[in-house]
Amino acid sequence: MRRYASWLLLALLSSPLLAASPDGVVAVSHPAAAAAGARMLAAGGNAIDAAAAVQFALNVVEPQSSGIGGGGFMLIHLAKTGETFFVDSRERAPVAANPGMFSPAGQPMPFSLASTSGLAVGVPGTLRGIDTALARWGTMTLADTLAPAIRLAEHGFRVNRFLAADIANDGGRTLIHPETAAIFRPGGVALAEGDWLVQPDLARTFKRIAAKGPDAFYRGPLAQALVAAQRRTRSELGAAGAGRMTLADLRNYQAAIRSPLYGRYRGWTLATMPPPSSGGITVLQMLGLLERFPLGDASQGYGFGSPKTLHVMIEAMRLGFADRAMWSGDDDAVTVPQRALLHPGYVAMRAARIRPDLRMDTPLAGDPLPWDKQAPEPQRMPRAGQESPHTTHFSVIDRWLNVVSYTSTIEFTWGSGITVPGYGFLLNNELTDFNFVPASDPASGNPGANDVAPGKRPRSSMAPMLLLKDGRPVAAYGSPGGATIINSVFSVTLNLIDHGMSLQQAIDAPRLSVTHATGKISCEGGAPFMQPGFSIASQDALRTLGHPAPGEPGANGCGEAIGSVQAVAIDLATGAQHGAADPRREGTVIRVRSTAEPGR
Ligand code: GLU
Repeated sequence: MRRYASWLLLALLSSPLLAASPDGVVAVSHPAAAAAGARMLAAGGNAIDAAAAVQFALNVVEPQSSGIGGGGFMLIHLAKTGETFFVDSRERAPVAANPGMFSPAGQPMPFSLASTSGLAVGVPGTLRGIDTALARWGTMTLADTLAPAIRLAEHGFRVNRFLAADIANDGGRTLIHPETAAIFRPGGVALAEGDWLVQPDLARTFKRIAAKGPDAFYRGPLAQALVAAQRRTRSELGAAGAGRMTLADLRNYQAAIRSPLYGRYRGWTLATMPPPSSGGITVLQMLGLLERFPLGDASQGYGFGSPKTLHVMIEAMRLGFADRAMWSGDDDAVTVPQRALLHPGYVAMRAARIRPDLRMDTPLAGDPLPWDKQAPEPQRMPRAGQESPHTTHFSVIDRWLNVVSYTSTIEFTWGSGITVPGYGFLLNNELTDFNFVPASDPASGNPGANDVAPGKRPRSSMAPMLLLKDGRPVAAYGSPGGATIINSVFSVTLNLIDHGMSLQQAIDAPRLSVTHATGKISCEGGAPFMQPGFSIASQDALRTLGHPAPGEPGANGCGEAIGSVQAVAIDLATGAQHGAADPRREGTVIRVRSTAEPGR
């Protein structure tokens, strides 16, 4: 344990890419949004102020991934009190939602149609969440933190290659709804890298919110326009595809403040998101499943990327995702046996199924309930709709060592594709994270944890993470990527703790992901920064163990990028702050040396 601890401290200290800074660091997937946060820090603001500005700016420069039409989870660590908590602004189902709404005749609606209809739109939470965080823990006003986003929307910015690629490869999403096409395909031509994008409607919306507060969004003309927009349906679905959100749903939306889930791994403490996300539980459970394997020890055949390491990681993912499918959902609506799923006795029982030299048969969900006192038999594993590789994560630290680790989303890339007419922002399709066909089955003990219900939050995978040592934050990170978020956060944690990587190396290293008990593997390879890679020999060795490794024997089957991790870290010995950003997007670290007098 001691060895792991000193490795990580050393790694965080010795990264050549990261310079120390006393006054705050932001790590964001886009430079303009990073600059928005840095401006708040430079003007004396704290990490919460900076996070608000980053999120609003991302709505302008990464509109396909997150914004006020969506929701998210903001982890806040307050240095003064040592408290860590979440502002949960997850979208909620309207009061008129019901379990069978995505399968009106018992058959699931096609994802492509359901996810681009109003039915998929959850009551958005991002603005309410930010306003709640700013009012309670920020030092600046909503208007202050909106100012950089207003400038970016009003004066424009340069479309980067990631936004251009998402417009070009949008599966028709920016075409289907005319208001969205008008912004991103003006005159019918897709914006390309280098084009200048001005968003006057969005600028006006932000100005109204700056002047009047969140009521300018949750009530009045904007709310009416939003409710009308989500009544749209794809013609193939008819009335069944129309959204059910009302003005009352919007008016009544409140963010929730939640305590984190805490876990221990090799002497480190991790604080992460509880339900309605499955992300935190599953990452912590998978770490627990692997604690008995010496993952960092190459002399025993482990070490980064070795077949033995990859094999046990895959097995942990298969077990974790089997439980996730059965047990995770919105704990405010259905009891999630979170403590039982992380109970050392339960985790040890599940871990015993992992054999170092043989792939296990497809695991069913386990039965954690005896560890939680009740005991119905688990069985079926429901599948939700699809999740896309988008969403966004960013991390901020300020000079007082307050930390924010924030993952936010409109669900699929481009969300529902519906832009609220005249207001310039996209609506989410978050409700497709629910089970399309209800899974609740009292006879078999399936709780239907992720079935649709009025006011319920769809199950998420988002897992903003805070790594602590002796109660003090050491690193904050997270990732987008739908269900793969869990594996990206898991992998970065292993890279830091087991493989002794620096923060930047831990982010750059190639990732592997399995999001279902059946074990279909995706893995990254190819990009020069992804070092060390997964060798062809390792991929072949996985096949020998019985895994469905991608590609052909003797050839590299690893390819597409997984996730986008933006992280900050603190050197416990000196208090120096660092950041590391992900080259999988235009990840940017800005270190700030402020001139203003500190607020708090
Ligand atoms: N809707 C997903 C979730 O909440 C995020 C989507 C994504 O990352 O692409 O887990």
